[in-house]
Amino acid sequence: MSGGGILIVCILQLSPVQRMPELPEVETVRRSMSGRVIGSSIVSVEFRDFPGVVGDVLPDVFQQLVIGERFERIDRRGKHLWLAFDGGGGLFVHLMMTGQLVLVRPGDDALRFEHLRLGLDSGWSLAYADQRKFGRVLRLTDEAWETIERRIGPEPLDAQFSVEALSAAMRNRKTPIKAFLLDQRRIAGIGNIYADEGLYRAGIHPMRQTGSLDEADIERLRGAIRAVLSEGIERRGTTLSDYRDANGDVGTNAANLRVYGRGGTGICEQCGAQLVRLVVAGRGTHICEICQPLRD
Ligand SMILES: [Zn+2]
Repeated sequence: MSGGGILIVCILQLSPVQRMPELPEVETVRRSMSGRVIGSSIVSVEFRDFPGVVGDVLPDVFQQLVIGERFERIDRRGKHLWLAFDGGGGLFVHLMMTGQLVLVRPGDDALRFEHLRLGLDSGWSLAYADQRKFGRVLRLTDEAWETIERRIGPEPLDAQFSVEALSAAMRNRKTPIKAFLLDQRRIAGIGNIYADEGLYRAGIHPMRQTGSLDEADIERLRGAIRAVLSEGIERRGTTLSDYRDANGDVGTNAANLRVYGRGGTGICEQCGAQLVRLVVAGRGTHICEICQPLRD
């Protein structure tokens, strides 16, 4: 990072194509902040124009609850982050549409749309900014976090995300497979980009009925989902505008996308047909109709 200015851990700036950060972007945020946050204690709390960022708790009370707490670890479940304190409890962070968690130096100017800054004893501060104000940083007990976590489906990169488990979850479901993939109670962390990319790589039409997929389809889909998510993490996330990692570099996964955002303009690299855009589960959806035939 040049110039000693703001060290940008993540900028999840979502315009012009507004979208929620998905598993690879949130995982990149987790990894890029862990080294400078874990082991540090909170020494100060600053609010700006939107104290509601910490939920229903009054700013003074939030301050009393978190000052002196030391971060023991940072976990991710789906699109959520859990910054656990070593004394129990922690901070639950949901970036929603436009949330940004950014490491800054004391004295650095406030970020655009900054709502909260936590000063750490390491000399860094953790700032939360959010243009649309949908995201939250909540002080929760371990029990409250576990209640949230239990409602989230399995992590697609974990070993337990087996063909058998996926088959069991999909059996007899009549929803389109894309809606199933986007449902956070079924599978954690997949949003519009990685659903479209995974279905394309598996050669499965997004409107196919979930329960109609056979074992070979499910095996291909599982492999494709894991591949697109892993590649997204390796490339430090998908930057559609100005997302940066801890080194000031963009996430490079946008260049790796084969269908997302290309319906109506792009060409299928497998068969040469023009990609098309549909609406499935209320979401813009990009496919190759030749490579992803609709059969049911
Ligand atoms: Zn094709």
